[in-house]
Amino acid sequence: MAAASLLETLRSAVGAANVLTEGDLTAWELDWRKRWRGRALAVVRPGSTAEVAAVVRACAATGTAIVPQGGNTGLVGGGVPDASGTQVLLSLQRMNRVRAIDEANLTLTADAGCVLQATQEAALARGLLLPLSLAAEGSCTLGGNLATNAGGTQVLRWGNARELCLGLEVVTAAGQVWDGLSGLRKDNTGYDLRDLMIGSEGTLGIITAATLKLAPLPAATTTALAACADLAQCVSLLKLARARLGAGLTGFEVMGRHALDLVARHFPALPQPLPGAPWTVLLEQSDTEGLARARERFEALLGAALELSVIGDAVVAESLAQSQALWQLRESIPLAQAEEGLNVKHDISLPVSAIPEFVASTDALLRRRFPGVQLVNFGHLGDGNLHYNVQAPAGSDGQRFLDDNERRINTLVFDALVPYGGSFSAEHGIGTLKRDELAARKSPVALQMMRAVKAALDPLNLLNPGRVL
Ligand code: FAD
Ligand code: ZN
Repeated sequence: MAAASLLETLRSAVGAANVLTEGDLTAWELDWRKRWRGRALAVVRPGSTAEVAAVVRACAATGTAIVPQGGNTGLVGGGVPDASGTQVLLSLQRMNRVRAIDEANLTLTADAGCVLQATQEAALARGLLLPLSLAAEGSCTLGGNLATNAGGTQVLRWGNARELCLGLEVVTAAGQVWDGLSGLRKDNTGYDLRDLMIGSEGTLGIITAATLKLAPLPAATTTALAACADLAQCVSLLKLARARLGAGLTGFEVMGRHALDLVARHFPALPQPLPGAPWTVLLEQSDTEGLARARERFEALLGAALELSVIGDAVVAESLAQSQALWQLRESIPLAQAEEGLNVKHDISLPVSAIPEFVASTDALLRRRFPGVQLVNFGHLGDGNLHYNVQAPAGSDGQRFLDDNERRINTLVFDALVPYGGSFSAEHGIGTLKRDELAARKSPVALQMMRAVKAALDPLNLLNPGRVL
């Protein structure tokens, strides 16, 4: 039958206009990095949880694999179909309604397809903060954020997506709806199915809605850039900032020279206030006491850092526009890298204290083994999370460089993390890209438990097969 009659069932479930099989489907079939291009049996766009459940039941009945997708900004090849032309691409994008905001309970409940930025704006309109923020927020969705347990730039203060999620609504592999949309902060009633779903990358269930924690808006947010000579200074600055600002420190991002040089090349209109700094730190402080107090505290911190020779120079944003321009520098790095061409991306984490030594020794090893490589290093230093990317030597072909060297570079970098107890995937997930690494590097006992969970919740292996495990 199978394909034609499945398509008929899907059309009757979600409407013919929402089952796409022809025309240009690149937006769903090609990933953001342009590394994985698949072919879907159909792109199916349900408009409600009941429609998602009907789609899953129809797919389960015919043994058809389903790849859930939100904003398609994932970086590990987990959200696009494979090349077989047999998988249904289930796009949650039409499910984009904020269902409720409970101001007293400080929670927001929304469909999984809500774009993160639009959801932040819905909270803001009620004077509240949804403290999840990442450079892809204009396109990524809550479902994708939760399915990948996204991190971003506010983790230091608020934790990653998991820590912001109180409840989920999920369609199971059998097409049942689990309504776990609780706004409770305490609920010890058996196994935590919510936490099992978060970070499962579409392999255990389809997230259709979530209840997220909100926070009161800070009275003032201030941003600064500081120039450091090396990563050890950046770590000293972090220690000082934590001591002086406490919970007021809401962002601590680091940007290596080469990363900012790429931004200068591809976005020359963006001002770079500390040109030439080997390392630039972006600090953000959110304060409940108002702007004057916040600035005072910030300037005292930077003054002390200068005095202690922890930084060489600093600038504090004078206005919201200036603050946004500083953040834009940081957020333009992945975009500048994409413009520059393919590179070997690493999303690693390790204890903050180990970062200077790890980077110095791994940089040296890479340069010795792969002469001419360019190291694009930036990331969420406050969380011990680096985007430690390796770019082909200047003037060489990125694709060829990847084909020849990616495996060896990965092995070198991931092996170098082991003595520090680091992780080869901090916030982007496993997807297709790191599946073999997971199999090789995760403990056999952990893998056995993960496979048991997968077999129990998705016995026919229909949900995002071949991803993660
Ligand atoms: P997609 O890309 O559509 O999907 C990602 C994965 O989740 C896939 O495996 C997919 O199958 C699954 N999935 C999607 N929706 C659902 C659902 N409703 N139910 C079940 N499974 C689902 N990540 C960070 O953590 N921190 C960052 O700072 C960060 N910065 C980024 C900057 C840029 C410029 C880009 C392009 C990406 C960045 N990312 C970052 C990557 C990141 O994973 C995401 O942007 C985001 O969390 C993915 O959301 P999405 O809706 O685009 O998901
Ligand atoms: Zn990141």
